[in-house]
Amino acid sequence: MATQQAEIIAAHGRHYLATAEVDGQKLRLHCVTRGKKSDIAVGDLVEIALTSKDQAVIEKIVTRKTLLYRSDQYKSKMLAANLTRLLIVVATEPGFTDDLVSRALVAAESAGITPWLVLNKVDLTDALPRARERMQMYRDIGYPVLEVSAQGNPEATRAALLEIIQGESTILIGQSGMGKSSLINLLVPDADIATREISAALDTGKHTTTFTRLYDLPEGGKVIDSPGFQEFGLHHLSEGMLERAFPEFVPHLGHCKFYNCHHHAEPGCAVLAAVESGEIATLRHDLFEQLVHESKQKVGY
Ligand code: GDP
Ligand code: ZN
Repeated sequence: MATQQAEIIAAHGRHYLATAEVDGQKLRLHCVTRGKKSDIAVGDLVEIALTSKDQAVIEKIVTRKTLLYRSDQYKSKMLAANLTRLLIVVATEPGFTDDLVSRALVAAESAGITPWLVLNKVDLTDALPRARERMQMYRDIGYPVLEVSAQGNPEATRAALLEIIQGESTILIGQSGMGKSSLINLLVPDADIATREISAALDTGKHTTTFTRLYDLPEGGKVIDSPGFQEFGLHHLSEGMLERAFPEFVPHLGHCKFYNCHHHAEPGCAVLAAVESGEIATLRHDLFEQLVHESKQKVGY
């Protein structure tokens, strides 16, 4: 039987849900892989062979444009494929963790995905100045920050988000309580219904929403929602890849005294000099060292 292309919209174990155009109709198909392979991510384009009117076997993955990894504590190491935008949702209240934000930025940089910081709940004006102050570190590096209020100003929030993500493939991530679900519901008005349908089709059980899923944006483009805050898998990144995933390090690389400088404690290190002068934030350099340490452990990789 001839194969055709489909897009993976949800994954649960080795069961995948995909959409494909069959005879001019958009169908939702239940897909399985051959053998024990499960190296497929939401957002993947795949070649499938139909085995019944709503079931198919995945024959092949079409070359990915980008790939984000999740940390090893999960069974699958792949989080999502073919993304072009990563939106990191933080809020004025409750507080967010810089470590998680920076890890997400490193994941985006190393995957070649454009990151945006989305500061939500700017209607909470008491907490706004402090949150803006914390955002300044990211602005200084060159990361764009979008201020929104899912609750206070939903129409303007929707319009502002669409400016960034229309026609793109976007993943929203954020620590619990930041308002990620509120933003997804604004962007994809029938997200809840779609999730229930996908959950039923994948037979994930009534109460679980612990799977990554892809929605079509009504205005064009795709939005991926992933439960919880993704601990990104960064173990596969070499030291050389890591140092280039910190854009503020890049102008200093090549100016260290030693060509193989680890920017740890070497004399004449240009990166450390920039930390000393305040040009590079200490907590960003600390994270760099931590990630180099973790990548040397090569946990499960
Ligand atoms: P998630 O855990 O990141 O998915 O966050 P939710 O979307 O569930 O939102 C967490 C809480 O913050 C809920 O009580 C929301 O009503 C509230 N919330 C979301 N967006 C805003 C906002 O723009 N302003 C205010 N004040 N509260 C918000
Ligand atoms: Zn150095």
